[in-house]
Amino acid sequence: MSMNAYETTNTFLKRAMSVLDLEPGYETLLLTPRREVRVELTIRMDDGSIGNYIGYRVQHDNARGPYKGGLRYHPEVDVDEVRSLASLMTWKTAVIDVPFGGAKGGIQVDPTKLSEKEIERLTRRFVDLIHDFIGERVDIPAPDVNTNAKVMGWFFDQYTLHEGFSPGVVTGKPVSLHGSLGRESATGRGAMLAIREVLAADGKKLQGTSFSVQGFGNVGSWFARLAHAQGAKIVAVSDVKGGIFVGDGIDVPKLLEHVKATGSVVGFAGARSINNEEILTVDCDVLVPAALGHVITDKVAAEIRAKYVVEGANGPCTLEGSDVLDQRGVLCLPDIWANAGGVTVSYFEWVQNLQQHRWSEEKVNEELERHIVAAHKDIRAAMARYKTSMRTAAFVLALERVKAATDQRGHG
Ligand code: NAD
Repeated sequence: MSMNAYETTNTFLKRAMSVLDLEPGYETLLLTPRREVRVELTIRMDDGSIGNYIGYRVQHDNARGPYKGGLRYHPEVDVDEVRSLASLMTWKTAVIDVPFGGAKGGIQVDPTKLSEKEIERLTRRFVDLIHDFIGERVDIPAPDVNTNAKVMGWFFDQYTLHEGFSPGVVTGKPVSLHGSLGRESATGRGAMLAIREVLAADGKKLQGTSFSVQGFGNVGSWFARLAHAQGAKIVAVSDVKGGIFVGDGIDVPKLLEHVKATGSVVGFAGARSINNEEILTVDCDVLVPAALGHVITDKVAAEIRAKYVVEGANGPCTLEGSDVLDQRGVLCLPDIWANAGGVTVSYFEWVQNLQQHRWSEEKVNEELERHIVAAHKDIRAAMARYKTSMRTAAFVLALERVKAATDQRGHG
């Protein structure tokens, strides 16, 4: 029987907890979300009818700082998924060492069926109903699947109507509306830096290393662009419509132009078409799942030819898939480190908002690199100390940090 995302995250966590030998009460404290808000969102649709939607904000843990986490608009959003993603944020912010806790929000809606005005009304209604529970020193949302800088701009504006000027209440805002330079590319850049460090530890370089990237949205396309610029060979990429393969490496800047013109990677000149199963098992050194959760099952994991997996997406491996990768000696860079670049630069955006001062893009990128590189050293130390996988080591490191803050507050 396959587990849902919440159970999978909790199983990874429980393994790390058993390494640390935590007392059971602690386990419950760290597994259970602090607060869950569920709201009914009613808006007028463009045709005059009433639209009914359900929204959630789950606040998992704030021992290390204000709750932090994205806002997702998707038909499959449910409370279990939001809980799992909220918990992952607690461990992600701890691994990357930014002073935040973990939260996540979502609205159960298919945004492709709504007009832009309807999405705006839905977003503003959501803020009307949750503004009492968030704030720049309480809980700071950000973009996630199907939400973007534009949505965050409406979010900021609506919150400000209730509470007064507070740009730090949400991150991922447009650069011209209190956003940060370098935020858009941050997750892809962080993932590129993470695999760069791992390759270096094995005496290898990005240059000449071959990659297959599933998903060509924010994370996948920035990853491909930045890795390609460092001399990496991107042999395969895919999006929801299908995939392409070029054995000698894709000209990524040309592909970006093709995607801009056609809306998909499919049909790129000189490439062989492949499907979204093949993208995971093509011949390459590094696989980067950067689209959806749970795509690397045990069956897929057994067929992966890459030696490294970089979890650009959240939760791309099932529990069984992750175990098969470990058994086969494929090194998996876990999501709570590999895709933490986004939340790291969200933290820089928040700092800039509180300072009311803009950083240069160079400063943002330098500070991001510092956090990714430091986390790699800390994860390696935990791997050596506890003789565990990189994923368990990352969870152990995060648990130690959250536990320390909990104890130091006197709550442990
Ligand atoms: P996005 O919407 O910009 O891009 C998603 C990409 O995946 C698109 O290219 C889409 O076509 C593709 N896709 C969708 N369904 C697919 C399918 N069935 N098969 C293959 N490809 C498919 O989203 P994003 O922001 O790039 O996020 C991707 C993943 O990374 C998500 O799991 C998200 O939670 C995670 N993530 C994103 C950020 C961030 O800063 N954007 C940070 C951390 C984690």
